[in-house]
Amino acid sequence: MKQTVDKDGKPCRVCDSFKSWRQHEAKGHSKAKKAAAATTAAAAAVAATGSSASSIMTLADDECPPDTQVLGRATWTFLHTMAAYYPEKADSRQQGIMQSLLTSFSYFYPCGRCATHLRSEMEKHPPAVDTRAGLSQWMCQTHNKVNIMLGKDEFDCTKVDERWRDGPKDGRCSWAQDVEY
Ligand SMILES: Cc1cc2nc3c(=O)[nH]c(=O)nc-3n(C[C@H](O)[C@H](O)[C@H](O)COP(=O)(O)OP(=O)(O)OC[C@H]3O[C@@H](n4cnc5c(N)ncnc54)[C@H](O)[C@@H]3O)c2cc1C
Repeated sequence: MKQTVDKDGKPCRVCDSFKSWRQHEAKGHSKAKKAAAATTAAAAAVAATGSSASSIMTLADDECPPDTQVLGRATWTFLHTMAAYYPEKADSRQQGIMQSLLTSFSYFYPCGRCATHLRSEMEKHPPAVDTRAGLSQWMCQTHNKVNIMLGKDEFDCTKVDERWRDGPKDGRCSWAQDVEY
């Protein structure tokens, strides 16, 4: 897989999967040697302490800087949840703030090609910022465009509240409705 580089010609972690980033690094970049050394040291620590190999994976997942997938998942969680709790009918001030947030976001999202794609989508289909339902649907459709581009299944947008606000009807997430803030 071709490695994505940032504007300074350095490998861009948030533009790539961790796997492809490590493959590139393993081809001789000095950080690869450090990463390999860290992995070896961690393996030695596992052997010495008897802790499980999965704890290394957890450490790596939780404490390493994000790749494009970790960042993407976290960001979609934020964006869909923000839409799910947006005012049912936003006033003009709220609409302006949301519009400006999404515009700023589309410039500063750290994966450059993702941001470019989002900006071009927003130009063709401006965010629906007037109501909660409208924004939730816009977010769902925008996410689906990325899903399609990446060869993933489309999400059923009639289920967006169930996924991001109410939880499934079988009650397995019912704690989410019981919590008071
Ligand atoms: C704005 C933005 C642009 C991106 N652009 C790119 C890109 O150009 N190239 C790239 O490689 N990656 C891009 N990503 C990352 C990519 O979308 C995924 O986040 C990443 O590949 C991880 O995918 P995933 O399968 O874990 O689930 P994600 O796509 O991250 O989805 C997380 C969860 O959201 C739910 N979900 C899925 N689709 C929808 C939907 N349509 N509506 C509501 N909920 C949904 C599902 O429950 C899913 O498990 C982008 C991310 C963002 C936030």
